[in-house]
Amino acid sequence: MAKKEKQPVKCDQCDLEFPESELSEKHKSKAFVWQGKVMCEDCLFKMGASPADALTYSAFVGSQQPRRPQNY
Ligand SMILES: [Zn+2]
Repeated sequence: MAKKEKQPVKCDQCDLEFPESELSEKHKSKAFVWQGKVMCEDCLFKMGASPADALTYSAFVGSQQPRRPQNY
């Protein structure tokens, strides 16, 4: 059911792949989500945005998935 979870996360602009370590909160995520697109820091700046304007990928994923599964 959860096929999407194993696909590598890539920058929407330059196809840079993000290793899982870079997606974790612990390593200060280098992957960002800005206007619905996943971007690396470089592309984020090229688009005229800054990390402050975007969500980190881990924050984005966290906001998409409820922490408590609702099985009722
Ligand atoms: Zn990029």
